Amino acid sequence: MLSVEEAQQRILGEVKIPPPRAVPLADALGLALDENVASDIDSPPHDKSIVDGYALIASSVTASQTELRVIEEVTAGQVPTMAVEPGMATRIMTGAPVPQGADAVVMVEKTISIEGVSEARVRILEAPVKPGQNIVRRGASMRRGDEVLTADLHRRLRPIEIGLLAEVGRATVEVLQPTAAVLATGNELVPANQVPGPGQIRNSNGPMLVAFVRDAGAAPIDLGIARDTHADLRTKIEQGLNSDVLILSGGVSAGVLDLVPQVLSECGVHEVFHKVNLKPGKPLWFGTCQRDSQNRLVFGLPGNPVSSLVCFELFVRPALKKLAGHRDCIPVPIQATLTKEHQQRGQRGTYWPSQMETNADGTRLVTPLPWKGSGDLRSLANADALAIFPPGERQYQLGETISVLLL
Ligand code: AMP
Ligand code: MG
Repeated sequence: MLSVEEAQQRILGEVKIPPPRAVPLADALGLALDENVASDIDSPPHDKSIVDGYALIASSVTASQTELRVIEEVTAGQVPTMAVEPGMATRIMTGAPVPQGADAVVMVEKTISIEGVSEARVRILEAPVKPGQNIVRRGASMRRGDEVLTADLHRRLRPIEIGLLAEVGRATVEVLQPTAAVLATGNELVPANQVPGPGQIRNSNGPMLVAFVRDAGAAPIDLGIARDTHADLRTKIEQGLNSDVLILSGGVSAGVLDLVPQVLSECGVHEVFHKVNLKPGKPLWFGTCQRDSQNRLVFGLPGNPVSSLVCFELFVRPALKKLAGHRDCIPVPIQATLTKEHQQRGQRGTYWPSQMETNADGTRLVTPLPWKGSGDLRSLANADALAIFPPGERQYQLGETISVLLL
Protein backbone atom coordinates (compact mmCIF):
# COMPACT_ATOMS: atom_id res chain seq x y z
CA MET A 1 0.00 0.00 0.00
CA LEU A 2 1.24 3.51 -0.83
CA SER A 3 2.38 5.85 1.90
CA VAL A 4 0.76 9.27 2.15
CA GLU A 5 3.88 10.91 0.67
CA GLU A 6 4.04 8.47 -2.27
CA ALA A 7 0.36 9.01 -2.98
CA GLN A 8 0.81 12.80 -2.92
CA GLN A 9 3.72 12.57 -5.39
CA ARG A 10 1.74 10.34 -7.75
CA ILE A 11 -1.16 12.79 -7.69
CA LEU A 12 0.96 15.89 -8.31
CA GLY A 13 2.73 14.03 -11.10
CA GLU A 14 -0.60 13.82 -12.96
CA VAL A 15 -1.37 17.55 -12.74
CA LYS A 16 -1.24 19.36 -16.10
CA ILE A 17 -1.93 23.08 -16.07
CA PRO A 18 -5.43 23.65 -17.54
CA PRO A 19 -6.22 26.37 -20.12
CA PRO A 20 -7.31 29.84 -18.94
CA ARG A 21 -10.88 30.34 -17.80
CA ALA A 22 -12.88 33.56 -18.03
CA VAL A 23 -14.40 34.58 -14.69
CA PRO A 24 -16.30 37.70 -13.60
CA LEU A 25 -13.90 40.21 -12.11
CA ALA A 26 -15.63 39.93 -8.74
CA ASP A 27 -14.64 36.24 -8.55
CA ALA A 28 -10.99 36.70 -9.55
CA LEU A 29 -9.55 37.59 -6.16
CA GLY A 30 -6.77 35.18 -5.13
CA LEU A 31 -6.50 33.56 -8.58
CA ALA A 32 -3.59 33.69 -11.03
CA LEU A 33 -3.95 35.98 -14.04
CA ASP A 34 -3.63 33.96 -17.26
CA GLU A 35 -3.54 36.73 -19.89
CA ASN A 36 -1.69 39.94 -20.61
CA VAL A 37 -3.94 42.91 -19.97
CA ALA A 38 -3.70 46.18 -21.89
CA SER A 39 -5.57 49.36 -21.07
CA ASP A 40 -8.46 50.32 -23.36
CA ILE A 41 -8.30 53.96 -22.25
CA ASP A 42 -6.00 56.79 -21.33
CA SER A 43 -6.04 57.28 -17.58
CA PRO A 44 -6.83 59.84 -16.50
CA PRO A 45 -9.01 60.33 -19.58
CA HIS A 46 -8.55 64.14 -19.51
CA ASP A 47 -6.27 66.71 -17.92
CA LYS A 48 -7.80 66.79 -14.47
CA SER A 49 -7.68 68.86 -11.35
CA ILE A 50 -6.39 67.09 -8.26
CA VAL A 51 -7.82 69.69 -5.86
CA ASP A 52 -11.00 71.70 -5.33
CA GLY A 53 -10.14 75.24 -6.45
CA TYR A 54 -9.89 77.57 -9.44
CA ALA A 55 -8.55 76.78 -12.89
CA LEU A 56 -6.79 79.76 -14.41
CA ILE A 57 -3.90 80.94 -16.53
CA ALA A 58 -0.84 81.11 -14.29
CA SER A 59 0.40 84.29 -15.89
CA SER A 60 -2.91 86.04 -14.97
CA VAL A 61 -1.77 86.10 -11.36
CA THR A 62 0.85 88.83 -11.47
CA ALA A 63 0.74 89.67 -7.75
CA SER A 64 -0.80 88.37 -4.54
CA GLN A 65 -4.46 89.36 -4.06
CA THR A 66 -5.11 89.31 -7.82
CA GLU A 67 -8.85 89.19 -8.57
CA LEU A 68 -10.26 87.12 -11.41
CA ARG A 69 -13.73 86.81 -12.88
CA VAL A 70 -15.31 83.38 -12.29
CA ILE A 71 -16.94 82.24 -15.52
CA GLU A 72 -18.18 78.74 -14.73
CA GLU A 73 -18.32 75.92 -12.17
CA VAL A 74 -17.31 72.37 -13.13
CA THR A 75 -17.79 69.37 -10.84
CA ALA A 76 -16.41 65.84 -11.41
CA GLY A 77 -18.42 64.16 -14.15
CA GLN A 78 -19.17 67.46 -15.91
CA VAL A 79 -17.37 68.89 -18.90
CA PRO A 80 -16.35 72.60 -19.05
CA THR A 81 -18.18 74.60 -21.72
CA MET A 82 -16.10 77.80 -21.65
CA ALA A 83 -12.44 78.50 -22.34
CA VAL A 84 -10.52 80.36 -19.68
CA GLU A 85 -8.89 83.60 -20.87
CA PRO A 86 -6.53 86.01 -19.11
CA GLY A 87 -8.26 87.54 -16.08
CA MET A 88 -10.72 84.67 -15.78
CA ALA A 89 -11.05 81.53 -13.67
CA THR A 90 -13.31 78.47 -13.55
CA ARG A 91 -14.38 77.03 -10.19
CA ILE A 92 -13.31 73.38 -10.43
CA MET A 93 -13.70 70.30 -8.23
CA THR A 94 -11.30 67.42 -7.76
CA GLY A 95 -11.35 65.05 -10.74
CA ALA A 96 -13.10 67.47 -13.10
CA PRO A 97 -11.59 68.18 -16.55
CA VAL A 98 -9.45 71.32 -16.73
CA PRO A 99 -11.07 73.86 -19.06
CA GLN A 100 -9.43 74.91 -22.29
CA GLY A 101 -6.96 77.72 -21.84
CA ALA A 102 -6.28 77.10 -18.15
CA ASP A 103 -2.80 75.85 -17.27
CA ALA A 104 -2.95 75.73 -13.45
CA VAL A 105 -5.34 75.20 -10.56
CA VAL A 106 -5.14 77.12 -7.28
CA MET A 107 -6.59 75.25 -4.33
CA VAL A 108 -9.69 76.80 -2.75
CA GLU A 109 -7.92 77.24 0.59
CA LYS A 110 -5.61 79.79 -1.07
CA THR A 111 -8.46 81.93 -2.42
CA ILE A 112 -11.32 84.09 -1.21
CA SER A 113 -14.53 84.05 -3.16
CA ILE A 114 -16.18 87.42 -3.66
CA GLU A 115 -19.89 87.42 -4.40
CA GLY A 116 -20.35 90.35 -6.75
CA VAL A 117 -23.77 91.76 -7.69
CA SER A 118 -23.47 91.07 -11.39
CA GLU A 119 -20.65 88.54 -11.47
CA ALA A 120 -18.74 86.13 -9.24
CA ARG A 121 -15.09 86.93 -8.57
CA VAL A 122 -12.25 85.21 -6.76
CA ARG A 123 -9.22 86.66 -5.04
CA ILE A 124 -6.02 84.61 -5.42
CA LEU A 125 -4.10 85.13 -2.20
CA GLU A 126 -0.56 84.20 -3.28
CA ALA A 127 1.60 84.80 -6.32
CA PRO A 128 3.22 83.49 -8.39
CA VAL A 129 1.20 80.49 -9.61
CA LYS A 130 3.26 77.75 -11.24
CA PRO A 131 2.07 76.57 -14.67
CA GLY A 132 0.88 72.97 -14.41
CA GLN A 133 0.26 73.05 -10.68
CA ASN A 134 -2.48 70.74 -9.37
CA ILE A 135 -3.13 69.31 -12.84
CA VAL A 136 -2.56 65.69 -13.78
CA ARG A 137 -2.22 65.29 -17.52
CA ARG A 138 -4.33 62.95 -19.61
CA GLY A 139 -2.66 59.52 -19.80
CA ALA A 140 -0.22 60.29 -16.97
CA SER A 141 -1.03 56.95 -15.34
CA MET A 142 -1.47 54.88 -18.49
CA ARG A 143 -1.95 55.24 -22.22
CA ARG A 144 -4.49 53.29 -24.21
CA GLY A 145 -2.75 50.08 -25.33
CA ASP A 146 -0.23 50.08 -22.46
CA GLU A 147 0.20 46.62 -20.94
CA VAL A 148 -0.72 47.09 -17.29
CA LEU A 149 -0.60 43.47 -16.07
CA THR A 150 1.11 40.37 -17.45
CA ALA A 151 0.11 36.73 -17.10
CA ASP A 152 1.78 35.21 -14.08
CA LEU A 153 0.63 31.78 -12.99
CA HIS A 154 2.49 31.99 -9.69
CA ARG A 155 1.07 35.31 -8.50
CA ARG A 156 -2.34 35.84 -6.93
CA LEU A 157 -4.62 38.69 -7.90
CA ARG A 158 -5.01 41.04 -4.94
CA PRO A 159 -7.66 43.73 -4.38
CA ILE A 160 -5.16 46.21 -5.91
CA GLU A 161 -5.08 44.33 -9.23
CA ILE A 162 -8.87 43.88 -9.14
CA GLY A 163 -9.16 47.68 -8.97
CA LEU A 164 -6.68 48.13 -11.80
CA LEU A 165 -8.51 45.58 -13.97
CA ALA A 166 -11.75 47.48 -13.39
CA GLU A 167 -10.00 50.73 -14.35
CA VAL A 168 -8.97 49.26 -17.70
CA GLY A 169 -12.45 47.98 -18.42
CA ARG A 170 -12.21 44.30 -17.59
CA ALA A 171 -15.54 42.97 -16.33
CA THR A 172 -14.30 39.44 -16.92
CA VAL A 173 -10.75 38.22 -16.81
CA GLU A 174 -8.87 35.10 -17.86
CA VAL A 175 -7.47 33.24 -14.88
CA LEU A 176 -6.00 29.90 -13.98
CA GLN A 177 -8.68 28.24 -11.90
CA PRO A 178 -9.55 24.55 -11.90
CA THR A 179 -13.16 23.45 -11.90
CA ALA A 180 -14.03 20.61 -9.55
CA ALA A 181 -17.25 18.59 -9.66
CA VAL A 182 -18.47 17.00 -6.44
CA LEU A 183 -20.61 13.86 -6.47
CA ALA A 184 -21.83 12.11 -3.32
CA THR A 185 -22.78 8.48 -3.83
CA GLY A 186 -25.01 6.24 -1.74
CA ASN A 187 -28.54 4.78 -1.69
CA GLU A 188 -28.86 5.90 1.92
CA LEU A 189 -28.30 9.61 1.28
CA VAL A 190 -30.90 12.36 1.45
CA PRO A 191 -30.23 16.07 1.03
CA ALA A 192 -29.96 18.42 4.03
CA ASN A 193 -33.53 19.72 3.63
CA GLN A 194 -35.03 16.26 4.21
CA VAL A 195 -35.59 14.26 7.37
CA PRO A 196 -33.89 10.88 6.89
CA GLY A 197 -36.30 7.93 6.78
CA PRO A 198 -35.48 4.45 8.05
CA GLY A 199 -31.97 3.46 7.00
CA GLN A 200 -31.19 6.89 5.59
CA ILE A 201 -28.67 9.60 6.53
CA ARG A 202 -28.11 13.11 5.32
CA ASN A 203 -25.51 13.90 2.68
CA SER A 204 -22.97 15.87 4.68
CA ASN A 205 -20.00 15.19 2.39
CA GLY A 206 -21.48 16.87 -0.67
CA PRO A 207 -21.89 20.33 0.88
CA MET A 208 -18.64 19.94 2.85
CA LEU A 209 -16.61 19.06 -0.25
CA VAL A 210 -18.20 21.85 -2.30
CA ALA A 211 -17.18 24.24 0.49
CA PHE A 212 -13.67 22.76 0.61
CA VAL A 213 -13.31 23.22 -3.15
CA ARG A 214 -14.32 26.86 -2.89
CA ASP A 215 -12.00 27.29 0.10
CA ALA A 216 -9.13 25.92 -2.01
CA GLY A 217 -9.77 28.60 -4.66
CA ALA A 218 -11.27 26.24 -7.25
CA ALA A 219 -14.70 26.54 -8.87
CA PRO A 220 -17.10 23.89 -7.50
CA ILE A 221 -19.85 22.19 -9.46
CA ASP A 222 -22.29 20.35 -7.21
CA LEU A 223 -23.58 17.21 -8.91
CA GLY A 224 -25.72 16.22 -5.92
CA ILE A 225 -26.29 12.56 -5.07
CA ALA A 226 -25.84 9.47 -7.23
CA ARG A 227 -27.53 6.21 -6.29
CA ASP A 228 -25.43 3.04 -6.07
CA THR A 229 -26.46 1.86 -9.54
CA HIS A 230 -24.37 1.54 -12.69
CA ALA A 231 -26.75 3.74 -14.64
CA ASP A 232 -26.96 6.64 -12.20
CA LEU A 233 -23.24 6.58 -11.39
CA ARG A 234 -22.36 6.46 -15.05
CA THR A 235 -24.52 9.42 -16.04
CA LYS A 236 -23.25 11.60 -13.23
CA ILE A 237 -19.60 10.55 -13.56
CA GLU A 238 -19.74 11.43 -17.28
CA GLN A 239 -21.05 14.85 -16.29
CA GLY A 240 -18.28 15.22 -13.70
CA LEU A 241 -15.59 14.40 -16.25
CA ASN A 242 -16.29 17.76 -17.91
CA SER A 243 -14.50 19.37 -14.96
CA ASP A 244 -10.74 19.44 -14.36
CA VAL A 245 -11.26 17.43 -11.19
CA LEU A 246 -14.03 15.03 -10.18
CA ILE A 247 -14.40 14.34 -6.47
CA LEU A 248 -16.64 11.45 -5.47
CA SER A 249 -17.52 10.40 -1.97
CA GLY A 250 -18.44 6.87 -1.00
CA GLY A 251 -18.53 3.60 -2.86
CA VAL A 252 -14.79 2.89 -2.96
CA SER A 253 -14.57 0.28 -0.16
CA ALA A 254 -15.32 -3.45 -0.30
CA GLY A 255 -19.13 -3.45 0.04
CA VAL A 256 -21.39 -5.16 -2.49
CA LEU A 257 -22.64 -1.76 -3.71
CA ASP A 258 -19.23 -0.07 -3.77
CA LEU A 259 -19.38 0.28 -7.55
CA VAL A 260 -17.42 3.48 -8.01
CA PRO A 261 -14.03 2.05 -9.15
CA GLN A 262 -15.75 -0.27 -11.62
CA VAL A 263 -17.96 2.41 -13.12
CA LEU A 264 -15.03 4.83 -13.32
CA SER A 265 -13.11 2.24 -15.26
CA GLU A 266 -16.11 1.76 -17.61
CA CYS A 267 -16.03 5.53 -18.18
CA GLY A 268 -12.40 5.32 -19.26
CA VAL A 269 -10.82 6.54 -16.04
CA HIS A 270 -7.50 4.76 -15.42
CA GLU A 271 -6.68 3.81 -11.86
CA VAL A 272 -3.40 5.31 -10.62
CA PHE A 273 -3.78 3.84 -7.14
CA HIS A 274 -6.38 2.46 -4.76
CA LYS A 275 -5.76 2.58 -1.01
CA VAL A 276 -3.26 4.58 0.97
CA ASN A 277 -1.69 3.63 4.25
CA LEU A 278 -3.42 6.08 6.56
CA LYS A 279 -6.27 6.37 9.03
CA PRO A 280 -8.87 7.57 8.40
CA GLY A 281 -8.98 7.46 4.60
CA LYS A 282 -7.43 4.15 3.58
CA PRO A 283 -9.89 3.28 0.74
CA LEU A 284 -8.95 6.42 -1.26
CA TRP A 285 -9.10 5.81 -5.03
CA PHE A 286 -7.29 8.00 -7.55
CA GLY A 287 -7.28 7.89 -11.34
CA THR A 288 -7.05 10.02 -14.47
CA CYS A 289 -8.59 10.22 -17.91
CA GLN A 290 -8.25 12.31 -21.06
CA ARG A 291 -11.18 14.57 -21.96
CA ASP A 292 -11.02 17.48 -24.40
CA SER A 293 -7.23 16.91 -24.52
CA GLN A 294 -7.04 17.62 -20.81
CA ASN A 295 -5.92 15.29 -18.05
CA ARG A 296 -8.91 14.93 -15.71
CA LEU A 297 -8.13 13.95 -12.12
CA VAL A 298 -10.63 11.70 -10.33
CA PHE A 299 -10.68 11.21 -6.57
CA GLY A 300 -12.89 8.57 -4.98
CA LEU A 301 -12.98 9.56 -1.31
CA PRO A 302 -14.22 7.15 1.34
CA GLY A 303 -17.79 7.92 2.42
CA ASN A 304 -17.21 8.50 6.09
CA PRO A 305 -17.14 12.28 6.50
CA VAL A 306 -13.90 12.51 8.49
CA SER A 307 -12.16 10.19 5.99
CA SER A 308 -13.38 12.46 3.21
CA LEU A 309 -12.11 15.51 5.07
CA VAL A 310 -8.66 14.05 5.76
CA CYS A 311 -8.32 12.83 2.16
CA PHE A 312 -9.35 16.23 0.87
CA GLU A 313 -6.70 18.00 2.92
CA LEU A 314 -3.91 15.51 2.17
CA PHE A 315 -4.61 14.71 -1.49
CA VAL A 316 -7.26 16.84 -3.19
CA ARG A 317 -6.27 20.28 -1.92
CA PRO A 318 -2.62 19.89 -3.07
CA ALA A 319 -3.84 18.94 -6.56
CA LEU A 320 -6.25 21.90 -6.70
CA LYS A 321 -3.44 24.21 -5.56
CA LYS A 322 -1.05 22.97 -8.22
CA LEU A 323 -3.80 23.32 -10.84
CA ALA A 324 -4.23 26.93 -9.69
CA GLY A 325 -0.53 27.72 -10.13
CA HIS A 326 0.69 27.40 -6.55
CA ARG A 327 4.25 26.19 -6.10
CA ASP A 328 4.23 24.70 -2.61
CA CYS A 329 1.22 22.45 -2.65
CA ILE A 330 1.84 19.68 -0.13
CA PRO A 331 0.86 20.67 3.41
CA VAL A 332 3.86 20.95 5.72
CA PRO A 333 3.36 19.75 9.30
CA ILE A 334 4.44 21.93 12.21
CA GLN A 335 5.82 20.71 15.54
CA ALA A 336 3.80 20.93 18.74
CA THR A 337 3.91 19.64 22.30
CA LEU A 338 1.34 17.03 23.38
CA THR A 339 -0.78 18.14 26.34
CA LYS A 340 -1.92 14.62 27.19
CA GLU A 341 -1.02 10.99 26.70
CA HIS A 342 -2.15 9.32 23.51
CA GLN A 343 -2.24 5.66 22.49
CA GLN A 344 -1.46 5.02 18.81
CA ARG A 345 -2.77 1.67 17.57
CA GLY A 346 -2.22 -0.28 14.38
CA GLN A 347 0.06 -0.13 11.38
CA ARG A 348 -1.50 2.89 9.71
CA GLY A 349 -0.38 6.45 10.39
CA THR A 350 -3.24 8.27 12.07
CA TYR A 351 -4.43 11.84 11.52
CA TRP A 352 -6.20 12.57 14.80
CA PRO A 353 -8.58 15.56 15.18
CA SER A 354 -6.97 17.96 17.63
CA GLN A 355 -6.99 21.44 19.04
CA MET A 356 -4.05 23.86 18.94
CA GLU A 357 -3.16 26.47 21.48
CA THR A 358 -0.14 28.71 21.89
CA ASN A 359 1.46 29.31 25.29
CA ALA A 360 2.40 32.75 26.61
CA ASP A 361 6.04 31.88 25.73
CA GLY A 362 5.04 30.95 22.16
CA THR A 363 5.16 27.16 22.62
CA ARG A 364 2.61 25.38 20.44
CA LEU A 365 0.46 22.90 22.34
CA VAL A 366 -1.68 20.20 20.75
CA THR A 367 -4.55 18.35 22.41
CA PRO A 368 -6.03 15.27 20.70
CA LEU A 369 -9.83 15.52 21.02
CA PRO A 370 -12.19 12.77 22.12
CA TRP A 371 -13.20 11.35 18.75
CA LYS A 372 -15.43 8.42 17.90
CA GLY A 373 -14.04 7.53 14.51
CA SER A 374 -14.37 8.41 10.88
CA GLY A 375 -18.15 8.89 10.97
CA ASP A 376 -17.93 11.41 13.82
CA LEU A 377 -17.82 14.79 12.10
CA ARG A 378 -19.42 16.48 15.06
CA SER A 379 -16.27 16.19 17.22
CA LEU A 380 -14.36 17.94 14.44
CA ALA A 381 -16.36 21.12 14.98
CA ASN A 382 -13.87 21.94 17.75
CA ALA A 383 -10.79 20.79 15.82
CA ASP A 384 -8.36 23.09 14.09
CA ALA A 385 -5.59 20.58 13.45
CA LEU A 386 -4.80 16.95 12.76
CA ALA A 387 -2.17 15.41 15.03
CA ILE A 388 -0.01 12.94 13.10
CA PHE A 389 0.81 9.64 14.81
CA PRO A 390 3.08 7.48 12.60
CA PRO A 391 2.34 3.74 12.08
CA GLY A 392 3.13 1.38 14.94
CA GLU A 393 1.72 0.67 18.40
CA ARG A 394 3.04 3.27 20.79
CA GLN A 395 2.05 5.20 23.89
CA TYR A 396 2.79 8.90 23.42
CA GLN A 397 3.58 10.81 26.61
CA LEU A 398 2.48 14.22 27.76
CA GLY A 399 5.19 16.74 26.75
CA GLU A 400 6.37 14.84 23.66
CA THR A 401 6.88 16.79 20.44
CA ILE A 402 4.77 15.56 17.53
CA SER A 403 3.89 16.70 14.00
CA VAL A 404 0.61 18.48 13.37
CA LEU A 405 -1.24 19.61 10.26
CA LEU A 406 -3.25 22.78 10.67
CA LEU A 407 -6.76 22.68 9.25
P1 AMP B 1 -19.01 4.04 1.80
O1 AMP B 1 -17.63 4.62 1.61
O2 AMP B 1 -19.93 4.35 0.67
O3 AMP B 1 -18.96 2.60 2.15
O4 AMP B 1 -19.60 4.78 3.06
C1 AMP B 1 -18.98 4.68 4.32
C2 AMP B 1 -19.83 5.32 5.37
O5 AMP B 1 -19.95 6.70 5.12
C3 AMP B 1 -21.24 4.79 5.44
O6 AMP B 1 -21.63 4.76 6.79
C4 AMP B 1 -22.04 5.81 4.68
O7 AMP B 1 -23.39 5.85 5.05
C5 AMP B 1 -21.31 7.09 5.04
N1 AMP B 1 -21.47 8.06 3.97
C6 AMP B 1 -21.31 7.82 2.65
N2 AMP B 1 -21.52 8.92 1.94
C7 AMP B 1 -21.81 9.90 2.82
C8 AMP B 1 -22.16 11.27 2.68
N3 AMP B 1 -22.21 11.85 1.49
N4 AMP B 1 -22.42 11.99 3.80
C9 AMP B 1 -22.35 11.39 5.00
N5 AMP B 1 -22.04 10.12 5.20
C10 AMP B 1 -21.79 9.36 4.12
MG1 MG C 1 -21.77 3.81 -0.02
